[in-house]
Amino acid sequence: MPEPFALADVSIVTGDADGTVLAAQSVVVGASGAIERVGPTADTPAPPGYRLMDMPGHHLVPGLINAHAHLFSNGLPLPPFLVKESTAALVTKLGRSPIGRRLFKRRAKTNALIQLHSGVTTIRTVGDTGYEVVHVAGEIDRGDYLGPRVLASGPLLAITGGHGAPQIALTSDSPWDARRNTRRNVQRGVKAIKISATAGVTDARAVGYAGRPEMTQEEMTAICEEAHNAGIRVAAHAQSADGIYAALRAGVDTIEHGARMTSEIIDLFLDNPRSLNGSSALVPTLLVCLPLVEFAQEITGASDIVRANATMVLDEMVQGIHAARENGIAIGMGTDSALTYVTHYDAWREMDVLVRYGGLTAAQALNSATQTNARILGLDDVTGSIEPGKAADLVLLDGNPLDGFRAFVNPRMVVARGAVIDSPSVTRYPDLDTQLDSF
Ligand SMILES: [Zn+2]
Repeated sequence: MPEPFALADVSIVTGDADGTVLAAQSVVVGASGAIERVGPTADTPAPPGYRLMDMPGHHLVPGLINAHAHLFSNGLPLPPFLVKESTAALVTKLGRSPIGRRLFKRRAKTNALIQLHSGVTTIRTVGDTGYEVVHVAGEIDRGDYLGPRVLASGPLLAITGGHGAPQIALTSDSPWDARRNTRRNVQRGVKAIKISATAGVTDARAVGYAGRPEMTQEEMTAICEEAHNAGIRVAAHAQSADGIYAALRAGVDTIEHGARMTSEIIDLFLDNPRSLNGSSALVPTLLVCLPLVEFAQEITGASDIVRANATMVLDEMVQGIHAARENGIAIGMGTDSALTYVTHYDAWREMDVLVRYGGLTAAQALNSATQTNARILGLDDVTGSIEPGKAADLVLLDGNPLDGFRAFVNPRMVVARGAVIDSPSVTRYPDLDTQLDSF
């Protein structure tokens, strides 16, 4: 049971799209881990027996939600043998062996905790090597150790030879087999389903390959029906208009990465009767693509084909974000952590580039990472804002994040479901940080 407490004299950054900041507020958190009261400090005393923390000059933000994460690696360049086609079968076999499963589970736990210590209190994974993240999520929920709330996807679902296959995917080539793989994941306890609607950058074999449609609409429809029957939302990796259109028609809830939009696509995002929320959302991931485009190939080691695809995908993604912004489509925040150049401690960088490349205001970017992500993941009655009845998922910062997301680099305190981490800390990769600081 967390110790009940009250945070007093803080400025609350609500996470709404207008950038509302409320001065001199108190937040009272009960032993259940839920927020009990929020209001001006003058009228919101700490109840007897509650630890009082007076924190003038600090900003309190809803805990961040990372809607697109992987936990199998740390963000340093992935060793080539892990992604090469010729070694894929061996790597997959090793990863699913008892030793591999133990290794990946340990990594998943470590990386989930790094995200927590940097202010991410909820993670949705979108492609794991097996069910290791499901197990980590279970341990956290049971209270074995303090961690973020994790919606684990397990292996993503792809076609034979498709994006993510075989290393982090279950494959199928018909609607019924796709249904079976969905049922398998649901049976194993996943809380998210991820599919590869199109090819991707990492496995591109030719220029223009990244957006090539992979899963048919029939297959995606089967998956969405099975997932939705279990109350689970579906995320689709989709990097072309054709792929996005088919995925939305099938009822996919969130489009990952994205691409330019036609008016039909815009209409489907806004009104998608087959999705669980009745509308679908876009989760762009700029940070994973930018280094491949902005850094010299000698630094990234990217082939000409990968570089050309990354350039195309970045351009498409930015156009998709602009179309979403201009048409009122919900934009979520996801980092694609674990992939090269995306560590588990800098979700703030994705918000930063959503502003600089996507044209969002700082308030809109923070809103994506908090209130919007909660809504699109179906968690808005649980987390995403600082309100009575919701879980106390909070980040206390020295500075106002709306003046610069770097305020998240050293949070003063992180609270996860009411449990306080007083001095969060993570181990950084200084060389990588210096590189990323350059754009
Ligand atoms: Zn990803």
